[in-house]
Amino acid sequence: MAFEGLTERLQNAMKTLRGKGKVSQSDLRATMREIRLALLEADVNFQVVRNFVKTVEERANGAKVLEGLNPSQQIVKIVDEELTKTMGEEAVPLNKSEKIPTIIMMSGLQGAGKTTTAGKLALKLKNEQNARPLLIADDIYRPAAIDQLETVGQQIDVPVFQLGTDVDPVEIAKRGLEKAKEDHNDYVIIDTAGRLQIDEKLMGELSNIKDAVHPDEILLVIDAMTGQNAVATAEGFNKTLDVTGVVLTKLDGDTRGGAALSIRAVTQKPIKFVGQGEKMSDLDVFYPDRMASRILG
Ligand code: GDP
Repeated sequence: MAFEGLTERLQNAMKTLRGKGKVSQSDLRATMREIRLALLEADVNFQVVRNFVKTVEERANGAKVLEGLNPSQQIVKIVDEELTKTMGEEAVPLNKSEKIPTIIMMSGLQGAGKTTTAGKLALKLKNEQNARPLLIADDIYRPAAIDQLETVGQQIDVPVFQLGTDVDPVEIAKRGLEKAKEDHNDYVIIDTAGRLQIDEKLMGELSNIKDAVHPDEILLVIDAMTGQNAVATAEGFNKTLDVTGVVLTKLDGDTRGGAALSIRAVTQKPIKFVGQGEKMSDLDVFYPDRMASRILG
């Protein structure tokens, strides 16, 4: 289960304070040391950990929490609030264009869950907004990717635009967009190619697609199971593409939690959705406060 180790360690760290009528400076310091280790072990970015611990400690001291009533409960509350803040405070909705169609571009490494998430998002828009999305198959390097998107499209009854694997991806994106305008689709979701690692060619191509269609939303799909690499990947994509949001996938797996807690703080870009399973319905809006509660257990 996701966050299992982190939850247990955070609970243990704060357990020593529980029931104490008075918490001393050294109690607080010991607890913060445990929290710091728990976060580092969960693969949270070290700078994020450092800021987090510093803020919690300052707040605990500043508000004279240690001398007040129920100091341990108050510290738990501070930790909860700061976890929420680290993950972005509030849910951030999908950008929407004033004129249809709203253009959403999916980006990310191969295997992160782009194609699956493109389908999940199309279904969500269809179910929740009665939208008529068009999926554009723009990953021409992995022939199976087009078939995969076609299958997804059939499954959720959403049309898929494709021109096979011999047309330039920028051209496919443009022609897909034209088709969407003709058919009055209100959303297009462009499924782009990924690679196993960030490379210049991939980034150049994504940049060209971005320049050609001016997406309203560039979603970066990140596999939560990849720990510290998730943050490095996010930074790499964000540097070139200036993404507008992140989707964190595979949160149903036994991820340690580092990506969820680091990405917003490191990239300053909001996590907008989380993928929590392989089914088309397994996509949820990301609520930082609910995630904090889940992490604290
Ligand atoms: P792409 O290469 O980025 O397009 O990745 P795919 O969409 O093909 O996904 C790669 C694998 O991850 C597939 O087996 C998906 O079913 C799986 N996957 C995607 N999102 C999730 C998720 O949220 N949870 C789980 N458990 N699996 C996922």
